Amino acid sequence: MVEIQRNPTREVQIGSISIGGGHPIAVQSMTATKTQNIDATVRQIQHLLSAGADVIRVAVDSQKDAEALREIAAQTRANLSVDLQENYRLAEAVAPFVQKIRYNPGHLYHHERQKPWQEKVAYIVGVARDNDCAVRVGVNCGSVDPAKTDKYAHDDSISPMLESAFDHCEFLDSLGFTRYCVSLKDSDPRKVVEVNRRFAARRPDVPLHLGVTEAGMPPDGVIKTRVAFEQLIGTGIGDTLRVSLTVPNDRKGEEIEAGRQILADIAAGRVRSVVDFNTHGLNIISCPSCSRVENEAFVELAAQVKEMTAYAKDYDITIAVMGCRVNGPGETDDADLGLWCAPNFVNLKRGPAPLGAYPYDEIIPRLKQELDQLIANRQS
Ligand code: SF4
Repeated sequence: MVEIQRNPTREVQIGSISIGGGHPIAVQSMTATKTQNIDATVRQIQHLLSAGADVIRVAVDSQKDAEALREIAAQTRANLSVDLQENYRLAEAVAPFVQKIRYNPGHLYHHERQKPWQEKVAYIVGVARDNDCAVRVGVNCGSVDPAKTDKYAHDDSISPMLESAFDHCEFLDSLGFTRYCVSLKDSDPRKVVEVNRRFAARRPDVPLHLGVTEAGMPPDGVIKTRVAFEQLIGTGIGDTLRVSLTVPNDRKGEEIEAGRQILADIAAGRVRSVVDFNTHGLNIISCPSCSRVENEAFVELAAQVKEMTAYAKDYDITIAVMGCRVNGPGETDDADLGLWCAPNFVNLKRGPAPLGAYPYDEIIPRLKQELDQLIANRQS
């Protein structure tokens, strides 16, 4: 066994488990069923629980989702985390039924724009306190607080994420609320390593939730995540983690299995890095899907993209495939080509530029056309 000196993070209790403070690294996942489909969501939670999930996140975007969550919580003993995106005020409707509330600083702007974020966070903290919940400040590369991104160079995505995380930590500390952890996620494992290292150097006390977003399908998605986790966990950084994989609903347990396997391998010294982050060649990123996915055809679409683009494997091109409008438009900006799903069509982008919306059965040939063009431009 490898002796790893873990960072001295403080302990944060999430229902029946605790993270930080020397506790074992907890493994999480998220449901991808429609939250309002109570039976399917409970089934998926039970499936994740039997795969060994310590905490399971559920997305809630509406009052109806919140009502469904109440029913769901009554039918499981899992530690539940609720994922709040734009509509932060749903916190009070769901907090009584969950053990953790996740908010994204970059999404606190969409509702009640005139209200300062501090007021919104103070409200979330009040709700968390009243309901015995932990909080995660979930900073995501594709949706960083716009006031922060404007301050830094266009190609510096790490500084705005860090500044946002530090500001939120300081604010939570100023409220005397310490039952929180932070996540800093990106789809590029190198950036995940850098941003988490820099965060941990300044705030070694704050527990970190590790993850590589849109890692894609196994086995590539697991490999991308593994290289980042080896670098971080191997140096004592990280208290809980999620391996985000694009897999059909009945295979979601693979996220937990992959997480546990990576942890076991690191502990046994079975690591594949001094890290060679495969920085060359075609890079397909796809979101793990969640209840927000706009069309069930998404997972299949991600697989078709992978298959169709195999011929371009030697080109340094990134293609992003995202399941919905919540994160799709932002997270595809940095890809060479991006697709994000709407209910009946798929939006196609070249970098940040929209190229149009295409039906599901027309998008693959259209994508190929763009890919061929991109390759031709690079060769000329
Ligand atoms: S892009 Fe949308 S569907 Fe995919 S995981 Fe993110 S929120 Fe869920």
